[in-house]
Amino acid sequence: MSSPSNKLVRPTVYQFAFGEAVITNVLEGYIHRADLHPFIATNADAGAVEELANQYRIPFPALEHNFVSTIIETGGKLIVVDPGFGAAAPAPSTGGFMDALNRAGYQAEDVDIVLISHCHPDHIGNVASDGVATFANAEIVIGRTEFEFWKRGDSISEMRQPTLALFRKVLLPLEDQLRLIEPGDQVVDGLSAVDAFGHSAGHLVFRFSSGGRELVLLNDTTPHYVASFAHPEWHFSMDDDPVKAAETRRRILDDCAASAVPVIGFHLPFPSIGFVETLQDGFEFRPATYQFQLT
Ligand SMILES: [Zn+2]
Repeated sequence: MSSPSNKLVRPTVYQFAFGEAVITNVLEGYIHRADLHPFIATNADAGAVEELANQYRIPFPALEHNFVSTIIETGGKLIVVDPGFGAAAPAPSTGGFMDALNRAGYQAEDVDIVLISHCHPDHIGNVASDGVATFANAEIVIGRTEFEFWKRGDSISEMRQPTLALFRKVLLPLEDQLRLIEPGDQVVDGLSAVDAFGHSAGHLVFRFSSGGRELVLLNDTTPHYVASFAHPEWHFSMDDDPVKAAETRRRILDDCAASAVPVIGFHLPFPSIGFVETLQDGFEFRPATYQFQLT
């Protein structure tokens, strides 16, 4: 008899109206790991991470790491932000973006813009496969600093060699078709890039506004919904420059807490939307419940 866990269904599409826009978060996939420490905090004691996990009633050291892409329909454009691993999926529980896109009511050919926050595999794998762009009609938009860093390919760590290989396979062949942007630039009306360098050389956060409402796509600024908020100074093992990433994390979270804007995070537990509050020397993530269904 197969395990009952093979039959479990979970939500993978979360759609809501936001100003004049429609926003959809989709669960591209998830992986289970057994190393909350040191995965999420290479510069903290295991005991401190375990104590925090206990406080929040999450297991230790087991964790679930989610991959959540965001689709924004605004001003007549359909924008996909970081469409997941695609053919580079590392496990059967990942690589579900295209199915979820269809369940959300869209087809690949409807996509006008693919917006990339940075070049790690879970963010670029689905941009193309075998040299063919996944979204045939889409412009691909990515930060100039990030693109040029991987294009140069200098001093890439051992851990990131597979990332470099994937970049060369997926993104570099499309170089002539890319739109390269800088922090402060607009992707479309109401959607702009913010410098969040550190997690990767040119990692970007996105601010989106529509109809007088605003939200922030944190992307990989906050890899864990408890640890990254309570201890922004903890180094995430996947940060390419962990010191800079920690400074960036605090700056961006300070901003989001002060302005009380909703945030979406690529690795936050699905549906991956909520608010940032200051708490002691750090922050707390307050997951949304029904707020976004009422408007
Ligand atoms: Zn990521």
